[in-house]
Amino acid sequence: MFQNSASSDATHHIKDAANMQGAGRRITIVGAGVAGAWQALSFAKAGYSVKVIERDDAAMTHATSHFAGGMLAPWCEQETSEPVITRLGTRSLDLWRTELPDTPFNGSLVVAHPRDRADFDHFARITSDYERLDAAAIDKLEPSLEGRFREALFFPHEGHVEPRRVLPQLHEKIAKAGGEIRFNSECEPDKLASDGGLVIDCRGIFARDAVKDVRGVKGEMIIVETDEVSLSRPVRVMHPRWPLYVIPREDHRFMIGATSIESEDNRVSVRSALELLSAAYALHPAFGEARIIEMGAGLRPALPDNLPRIAIYGNRINVNGLYRHGFLLAPALAELTVNYVTRGLIDNEVMQCS
Ligand SMILES: Cc1cc2nc3c(=O)[nH]c(=O)nc-3n(C[C@H](O)[C@H](O)[C@H](O)COP(=O)(O)OP(=O)(O)OC[C@H]3O[C@@H](n4cnc5c(N)ncnc54)[C@H](O)[C@@H]3O)c2cc1C
Repeated sequence: MFQNSASSDATHHIKDAANMQGAGRRITIVGAGVAGAWQALSFAKAGYSVKVIERDDAAMTHATSHFAGGMLAPWCEQETSEPVITRLGTRSLDLWRTELPDTPFNGSLVVAHPRDRADFDHFARITSDYERLDAAAIDKLEPSLEGRFREALFFPHEGHVEPRRVLPQLHEKIAKAGGEIRFNSECEPDKLASDGGLVIDCRGIFARDAVKDVRGVKGEMIIVETDEVSLSRPVRVMHPRWPLYVIPREDHRFMIGATSIESEDNRVSVRSALELLSAAYALHPAFGEARIIEMGAGLRPALPDNLPRIAIYGNRINVNGLYRHGFLLAPALAELTVNYVTRGLIDNEVMQCS
């Protein structure tokens, strides 16, 4: 049975929480994806003795986090998400900046082809914190797009990370902060919790034994390589079915993402590949000559309301439901968990206590 007491603020304190533990105490985090990595780093920095158990190897190719775009875009995401995502997302931007000061915050650009004008207007109505750009301003910002769009929305405060680079960086930081990560090592969080220490379950879609209502939402993506196009920030292209985008990576690579399909099959369909590649081609015809490097799909861990949840069962805490916002939300969720464990602070919007 869960209880959440009402509060005028998003947070309240609980006194005498059974599982509040002092710095120096042992904490085991299960799963080293973006959720687990931020939990581990935040607890290690708060002075806890942290151990991370991850069943994959250090390349993490089976984690959902491996397939992500890594966009830190709380204002663009207002299109499809609740205000709590904006609240936690904007807090996370500060935490990314503090922990990894090299994180690029070059903003995001949103463009539309004339046939998708109505979608563009709708996007502009339900999002905030953007500037409207005309053709000249777009050319200045992204010279590769010169002459291709008459109008764009520019979200100047958004950022992005490269998940396959940033996860190892976070893992390294955990080790530097005194934490231990065991790759190729599997465990059942329930059994660990029965031994007494605090356990934080960050297994995402693989936590179904404990988080009965988690489901996978398939996100397909394609990585291409070309030196004919150069972008400095993620560019979203209006699309009637999905928010499609092209994100610049290192070495002239671009990630084209992402579909959002209620399916736990993690293969890429021909239809999705056609749509993703067409979106890139329509953004710039030079993508037609790009080399395809990889096609892949990840399963976003989603709860019925598509919102994140920190569920507290005594000395076991489940952090799940990061859905399409894992990179955007993980730092703020970790901060909330630390605040709960150290000070008994409850965030009414995302925490549930047994
Ligand atoms: C195509 C795509 C694009 C996306 N783009 C973005 C984006 O631009 N911005 C954004 O914020 N989010 C994005 N997301 C969402 C984001 O990727 C997810 O929300 C996030 O990766 C979920 O992270 P997680 O740590 O909960 O799960 P995971 O990354 O799956 O990590 C869970 C880990 O637990 C491990 N594990 C499982 N069972 C055990 C066990 N018994 N013992 C030990 N370890 C175990 C697994 O091996 C895995 O490494 C995207 C997702 C997809 C698929």
